[in-house]
Amino acid sequence: MALGGSDTGAPATDWQQQQQQQREQQHNGAIEIVVGPMFAGKTTELLRRVARYEAAGLSVAVVKSNKDDRYCAAHVVTHNGLKRPCFATPSLAAFKEAAGAAYDAFQVIAVDEAQFFPDLKEFCAHAADHEHKRLLLAGLDGDFQRQRFGQVLDLLPMADSVTKLTAHCKFCDQRRVAAVFSLRITADSRQEVVGGADVYAPVCRRHYVQLSQLRGRPLSSSDEASGGEQ
Ligand SMILES: [Zn+2]
Repeated sequence: MALGGSDTGAPATDWQQQQQQQREQQHNGAIEIVVGPMFAGKTTELLRRVARYEAAGLSVAVVKSNKDDRYCAAHVVTHNGLKRPCFATPSLAAFKEAAGAAYDAFQVIAVDEAQFFPDLKEFCAHAADHEHKRLLLAGLDGDFQRQRFGQVLDLLPMADSVTKLTAHCKFCDQRRVAAVFSLRITADSRQEVVGGADVYAPVCRRHYVQLSQLRGRPLSSSDEASGGEQ
């Protein structure tokens, strides 16, 4: 019997069904979203998924906003020092243009700091639905006031999976309590302020409520000490 049983009307073998499923998955777009506060390991998780898809033989592009130049303009860098080359761009349309003919070959597009892209929703919806690409997004779901940040939340109804990571609260004893919010520890009230530990601290709900009332003056060591009690 020849392979390709569907032509002959014979039932497909398990092997043929597996191949068919793999082909269908490759031709199906997807949106995976990773959110969480600052210092939750979102970029680390993004790069872990990138490595997994590359190991499976897929072609991956990594994109980050050029607003975030904390570490290196041409690389995505995690807080713990992992790094890989990327497109640093003001918008996803600009990334597509910069990639040129290479764009068509990308099967996976990983976007770090997704909240910074003004065309996130439109680009990702089109790329997943019509270009059959797998979008991996990492970003903040909320800003320092726990309000929506950029367009990440707009993509939840279109996503295949959503993962919310936590950090460790900076002010709880021994830092074992999960942090779910990003507390800004400077007086700046603009929504977009790029920064690291000098500007933000990951906090639990109790410390968010307690310490956000103190925002506007520098946190003293006594705040940290009183925050660590109870
Ligand atoms: Zn806490």
